[in-house]
Amino acid sequence: MNYVVLDLEWNQGNSTMELMPFEVIEIGAVKLDENLSHISDFSRLVRPTRYHSLHFIAGKLLHITMEELASQQPFPEVCRDFLRWCGEDYVFVTWGPADLTELQRNMRWHGMGALSDGPIPFLDAQKLYSLSHLERHERLSLETAVDQCGIRKDIQFHRAFDDAYYTALILEKLPRSIFSYYSFDYFTLPKDKSAEVHVKFDTYAKYISRGFKDRHQALEDQTVMSTVCYLCGRVLKRHPVAWFTPNGKQYYCVSWCPEHGYMKAKVRLRKTDDGLVYVVKTERFIGEDDVNELRRRSLKQMKKERKTASMASIRKPDAVRRPDTLRKPDSLRKPDSLRKPDSFRNPGASRGSKPLCNAKKPKNLPNPKPSVNQQG
Ligand SMILES: [Zn+2]
Repeated sequence: MNYVVLDLEWNQGNSTMELMPFEVIEIGAVKLDENLSHISDFSRLVRPTRYHSLHFIAGKLLHITMEELASQQPFPEVCRDFLRWCGEDYVFVTWGPADLTELQRNMRWHGMGALSDGPIPFLDAQKLYSLSHLERHERLSLETAVDQCGIRKDIQFHRAFDDAYYTALILEKLPRSIFSYYSFDYFTLPKDKSAEVHVKFDTYAKYISRGFKDRHQALEDQTVMSTVCYLCGRVLKRHPVAWFTPNGKQYYCVSWCPEHGYMKAKVRLRKTDDGLVYVVKTERFIGEDDVNELRRRSLKQMKKERKTASMASIRKPDAVRRPDTLRKPDSLRKPDSLRKPDSFRNPGASRGSKPLCNAKKPKNLPNPKPSVNQQG
């Protein structure tokens, strides 16, 4: 199996609401064999068809002119040549997670066939570099990593081939064991339940769902909210921290496996370009300190939800208040100076009518049979 180290350069319009906010104007790649020995290079500019002036960011970084691009072949031709050059048996390597998504977005915009029929496994060299050299979530620019590795900077940065070339050099510096922590590109989701992705890594497990019509349908799916130990397949019924969400986008839960200990599950809800909702769930085993931290966050969230719920319920419904027609005419009421201060009156009466609580908690659903298949 070969490695195709890929880097794209793109131009952009002024709106991110576009179906193709980033138009590929250059494809650069380096092909390596399984021992990371150099096989061949690919470097091509692309004639733009969507955006006809160079966005100032692209112009400043890339030192390319529109005139140069105008004499090139359009994206479908260049992309087909590129995919032919990639060959049959290869895995993509990129610096960061964006390139494969934008490649496929451009392919779709040009009406080309899909690159894959599901999520694409690839090596994110930026993530792998962090895993082996830095804190887990820290991410460096390519140039900083090149400096840290002591790689000689004999060509420029920010052109597609140059960045692919440096990414390939960093790949060589990484321990091979770290390659097992591959990533997925989610541009094409699993087409149905049977195609959903379940992968076990050394220190965690990942699940990628099919697309759901909306978030409620996603959160009601059994596999999404189930807690099954990914090591032994036990259905875990004890939850030291029940599902909670601090923001409606991520949900957390801690379950207890009698054999393997505390398993933390994190569900992330994401949206496709077409508005479908899908779920990326990761599970990993954690220690007591992490459990206590999650318990603290869950309690804090619960208090917040209770507070907003009680504030909303303090206000009497309109029907309970006296209709205006039954109130004494103004002339018969006590002058304002004799009335009780506001703090003694119904506190809801002076508040706005908007309910403050719209937080939703996912239901704890029955657990399905263990469904983790190892894929690599
Ligand atoms: Zn277990």
